[in-house]
Amino acid sequence: MNHDDALLRELNIYPLWLRRDVQVEAPPVAVAPPQPAPPEPEMKRTAAPPAPAAIQPSPYADLGWSELKQKVTDCTACKLRPTCTQTVFGVGDEQADWMIVGEGPGADEDIKGEPFVGQAGKLLDNMLAAIKLKRGDNVYIGNIVKCRPPGNRTPEPDEIAQCLPYLRRQIELIRPKLIVALGKTAATSLLGRDAALGSLRGHLHEFDGIPLIITYHPAYLLRSPTEKAKAWQDLCLAVATLQGMAEQ
Ligand code: SF4
Repeated sequence: MNHDDALLRELNIYPLWLRRDVQVEAPPVAVAPPQPAPPEPEMKRTAAPPAPAAIQPSPYADLGWSELKQKVTDCTACKLRPTCTQTVFGVGDEQADWMIVGEGPGADEDIKGEPFVGQAGKLLDNMLAAIKLKRGDNVYIGNIVKCRPPGNRTPEPDEIAQCLPYLRRQIELIRPKLIVALGKTAATSLLGRDAALGSLRGHLHEFDGIPLIITYHPAYLLRSPTEKAKAWQDLCLAVATLQGMAEQ
């Protein structure tokens, strides 16, 4: 089994199928016994990605990368800081086209100071590899909150409200072409409204004029591997959205 095959098997999308209008450079397709036709993706793509718009300024609009990192390192603005080991700022290409946004650091991330390490991080890396991306190369990874919630609980609204301006400034500095939100907390925090994740994924949204794709959090996919195929559909939508922008 080659590396691409292994990736696709881990994502439960092997043999590979693709929407005809999604031109992902396809990893090898297995020659397999006759199989039922793949289900139609649930995605409903809009006719065109949202027009780029100036993103709203954050309260930290005057901060560059180094000042922003120091601000986060020193932050004690919410009740998450006393119980975490360290703040987890984000990692990756600071001029990336792709920005990945998760919920917050877990135990491994809290120790290492980097988002998405451990098993969920490994799955995220494989998801990125399946669309020919890799951490740190045209991809930036950040979280809604920079400090680990105790016991990996969901961040509370006041904690999100305190921390989100940091992410907003990161987005301003990076100016990614596309944001992928992983999980409900990331999705609803960026959208500013509550909704079930299942109703949000498969559609094109936007955050301050930047196309926003919503999919499952890798930690959830580890617990619910049958949902990995839907995550693959979402990644294909993300790739198609960027391709559509490039063709405009
Ligand atoms: S979670 Fe964000 S707002 Fe809260 S203390 Fe950490 S860096 Fe500050």
